[in-house]
Amino acid sequence: MGRLIFVLLDGLNAKTARSCMSFLNALDDAAQISHVTLTSFLPPLSRPLYACLLSGLTPANSGIVRNEDTQLCPAPTFFHQARKVGLTTAAAAYYWFSELCNLSPFNPPRDRLTVNTSLPIAHGLFYSDDAYPDAELFRDAEALRHRVSPDLLLVHSMGIDWAGHCHGGTSVPYTQAVRHADSLLARYLPLWLKEGYSLLITSDHGMDANGNHYDDAPDVRQVPLWQAGPVWKTLPQPASQADIADLVCMALGIPLINQPHDI
Ligand SMILES: [Zn+2]
Repeated sequence: MGRLIFVLLDGLNAKTARSCMSFLNALDDAAQISHVTLTSFLPPLSRPLYACLLSGLTPANSGIVRNEDTQLCPAPTFFHQARKVGLTTAAAAYYWFSELCNLSPFNPPRDRLTVNTSLPIAHGLFYSDDAYPDAELFRDAEALRHRVSPDLLLVHSMGIDWAGHCHGGTSVPYTQAVRHADSLLARYLPLWLKEGYSLLITSDHGMDANGNHYDDAPDVRQVPLWQAGPVWKTLPQPASQADIADLVCMALGIPLINQPHDI
């Protein structure tokens, strides 16, 4: 079985990733990482697309079509699949992941620090401030990794999305936030690969110049995806965001969400 770290950089559009993520682009140039551009599903909103990335259900099929739709994901997620076979799961992520996978509504005293092996995300550090600094979030993820040595770890940062909403997707603060995320990956990705993890790095949606992500437009819908680590050599690149959840299961060597009896 493989071990995987899923890095979700919220609100990162493909165009800015191409121009500003020099570390990841260097690995791409050196053929040490594979890269593909995906088109996010409509509506290109965070919670509907989190549900899609977790379960493979498009927003139209999950019924989670607004950020205000706080129900649990209606299908099993890759965290459910991992727990079913006894893998250790962890996430440093925005609290909507706790609501989609574990318990909803989010109850901060109970859920911010989650240690509960009966839940799909057994070990969680869930933040609820959109301005939560990315550097702290990566430290949270590392703290979880050191404490529980997870087989599956979600690292979900909000700094790029926050800068885009405040200043617009073509602003200096947005591009700086993208560079900052790239520099954090330059620090952690080599370590994680050395520790035996495979990496999948992507975004939920992009950002337009006005600081929105709702429209059917390239800056909003085109998102990057990178795969690093030997496990991907024998696995396909995803053709859409709906392929990612089962791809995570394949990388972990566990039953797919859509073929629960197949391993
Ligand atoms: Zn988002």
